[in-house]
Amino acid sequence: MNYVGVLSKMQTENGSPIQYYLVFENDFLNVNQLLDKKLSISFVKYQCLNCNLGKKIYRQGFCYDCFYEIPQAADWIMRPELSMAHLDKEDRDLVYEKKVQLQPHIVYLANSSNVKVGVTRKTQVPTRWIDQGAHEAIEIVEVPNRYLAGVTEVALKDHVGDKTNWRTMLKNEIEDVDLVAWRNKLKQYIPEEAMPYFIENNTETELEFPVLQYPTKPKSLNLEKTPHYEGVLKGIKGQYLIFEDNTVFNVRSNEGYVVSITVG
Ligand SMILES: [Zn+2]
Repeated sequence: MNYVGVLSKMQTENGSPIQYYLVFENDFLNVNQLLDKKLSISFVKYQCLNCNLGKKIYRQGFCYDCFYEIPQAADWIMRPELSMAHLDKEDRDLVYEKKVQLQPHIVYLANSSNVKVGVTRKTQVPTRWIDQGAHEAIEIVEVPNRYLAGVTEVALKDHVGDKTNWRTMLKNEIEDVDLVAWRNKLKQYIPEEAMPYFIENNTETELEFPVLQYPTKPKSLNLEKTPHYEGVLKGIKGQYLIFEDNTVFNVRSNEGYVVSITVG
């Protein structure tokens, strides 16, 4: 079977194990069903996820012009503390910013390679954790807007990490930690304005990824350097496809690339 389409991050469904889907214009692929099968991935062309033009992808699946223009790629996406919609102030498009920023947000602790703090919209739990390849996570604060989540994250970053080591995550060199104990330890650093939203009583969420074999020395497939790759799929973790020969393919960082995938 052959599938052609523009890559966007895989959709997921939590379960034992998590189910992954590649969504193309005319095809909907359950990636779990491709485990242990031989896949060929070929680069076809670029296609910006916003303007659909065949321009080189700059960041986050967007061409250079779109990245610096559209509200979906503004700075407050990656840095929630820059959010301004709660002050009625526009960055790029106030209607869009109000819609996205003025809704419940979660500050969480997730353990993917180490414990880290992060922010997500409440509707993105546990999707966000799955995308990061976290095997356990816990909500610590639920606030009414993105700004409050952002300032909480910034305050906590002084006391806990905020990055994932993707090699460690993929090699599954992980340990189980007590995230409830971490939450209780970090409580003292939550800013005053977010303290009323602290979540006292909840438990860890455990996530189970569909992986038959972890890579020992993961090397990342770059479609620009290697426009054609072939390998046996052995697992999916985070937004990575893991192959038998230690090759890993980050679907998310290849958003906006049109690929042709052949199975078998
Ligand atoms: Zn574009």
